[in-house]
Amino acid sequence: MPLQLDEYDVSILQALIKDGRKSFREISRETGITTPTVKARFERLINVGFIKSVSPIFDFGIVDENTISQYLENKNREHKRIENEEEKQYSIQHMQQQQSRDARFRIRKGMKIKLDCEFCRGAITGDPRVFRFANFERFFCCNVCMSDYKQKYAGRIESIKRDYDGS
Ligand SMILES: [Zn+2]
Repeated sequence: MPLQLDEYDVSILQALIKDGRKSFREISRETGITTPTVKARFERLINVGFIKSVSPIFDFGIVDENTISQYLENKNREHKRIENEEEKQYSIQHMQQQQSRDARFRIRKGMKIKLDCEFCRGAITGDPRVFRFANFERFFCCNVCMSDYKQKYAGRIESIKRDYDGS
């Protein structure tokens, strides 16, 4: 069964779309959802891969155009490859701006996020088995996958837990 967004998830996402810099406490005040719940929901949305990142949106409209093209030209002269990277970054920024404008209208209660098993990578069709450690949640199709995963990554999981408890 995919993860289904409820009104908490939607309120948190809407608050973040308006301003991704908000702290969990600020989102809590704005939405009326407790801070630990905001944190847990946010982390879950990260863990299932729906929130890819919370990144700044730039207003290139306020940048002196001459300075942008100058920069690209200089880079162009230096390295052809980097110039392409710059352009890629620039168009990604555009896409992100467009996306966050659209997201406000696209995010709905009941929206389902498809989950793949962390171990076998197959689609999870039933209730996912959830393994929580530190601030991570991992989702599995069955108990076998979950225990195989725990076994395979036991060392890494332990060190993540240690770092998390120590911080
Ligand atoms: Zn599996």
